[in-house]
Amino acid sequence: MIVGILGAGQLARMIALAGYPLGVDFIFLDPSADACANKLGKHLQGDYNDPRLLAELAERADVVTYEFENVPADVAEFLASHTQVHPSPKALAVAQDRLLEKTFFHDLGIPTPAYAAVDSLESLEQAMAIIGWPAILKSRTLGYDGKGQSLLKSADDLKSAWKQLEGALAIVEAFVSFKREVSIIAVRNVSGAIVFYPLSENLHRGGILRVSECCDADVMQQQAEAYVSRLMEALDYVGVLALELFEVDGKLVANEFAPRVHNSGHWTIEGAETSQFENHLRAILDLPLGATTAVGKTAMINFIGGLPLTEDLLAIAHAHLHLYDKAPRKGRKVAHTTVRAENNEQLTALVKRLTTLADRVDDS
Ligand code: AMP
Repeated sequence: MIVGILGAGQLARMIALAGYPLGVDFIFLDPSADACANKLGKHLQGDYNDPRLLAELAERADVVTYEFENVPADVAEFLASHTQVHPSPKALAVAQDRLLEKTFFHDLGIPTPAYAAVDSLESLEQAMAIIGWPAILKSRTLGYDGKGQSLLKSADDLKSAWKQLEGALAIVEAFVSFKREVSIIAVRNVSGAIVFYPLSENLHRGGILRVSECCDADVMQQQAEAYVSRLMEALDYVGVLALELFEVDGKLVANEFAPRVHNSGHWTIEGAETSQFENHLRAILDLPLGATTAVGKTAMINFIGGLPLTEDLLAIAHAHLHLYDKAPRKGRKVAHTTVRAENNEQLTALVKRLTTLADRVDDS
């Protein structure tokens, strides 16, 4: 069985690492010569819309998936007309555009922050009269890790925030004073079976995820499962999906979803009975899904922009290191560690130790 992946970054690398024990082989399409998954399968190096490479990918792969959502929509459509593509091009199209995404949530009765579409400075000013302060202006497409976003605190911020978008279509949404950010990772296979991981509680700084902690038996689990099932059923979704939510006043409000394996689910490699990467493969190959039960108390710490010495990380007995084989660069995710503990005190101490090491090398 050969799985094709659009993109050959760390997510593709971890999918491939999970696939080898199941006897799956991989073929990647990625423009970068040194894409970090390229030692784990055949690497087709070139643009995502190169017709020759797309034809080769469609010909060789039994099923195609992707590791990020900004693949051109017509590429996914082309592949879907030649081979199986999971998740569907429709899921990709909705996730690529914040306005379509928020409207999709709204139509399914999944609460969101108040939002409005804006396409000019005048429409932004009009929207602010309804949304209220503070708010966030976000480009509709190509935004990730907080990129293409501006916080609007007063009318003085509008002109410069609008200018920064350089004419891109945008949405403005109310700034939510959340108690915490959580995400739910769910998996649906071709036959329609769904499994859910325990919620992850996520800590971001500068719009980038730093730490995720598995919250077993969380009071918000049921609500999150109800929302993510609604979303997956509506999209006839196949694969792993991550729904990011804010908790505010004891309720969940949806921020966005990722139609792929997700950084807030990396703890599942050592922290759950079956990892999100293995379950993604099982889902798209229509195999039975594995148990998602948490194994002990678990958290994940990202290393961004730089790396401590491997020896220092491996000296921590309960830390599991995942290097992405990427050269350190400002703001770039280069590795993560999962820590697994027997109780909350031990987990807190491990997270503190690892975040101290991560912060020392973090230049973002
Ligand atoms: P996003 O790219 O939409 O995931 O935003 C990145 C991060 O910015 C989120 O994880 C939040 O920490 C923060 N953020 C985004 N939208 C909002 C909002 N409406 N209210 C408060 N914080 C937000």
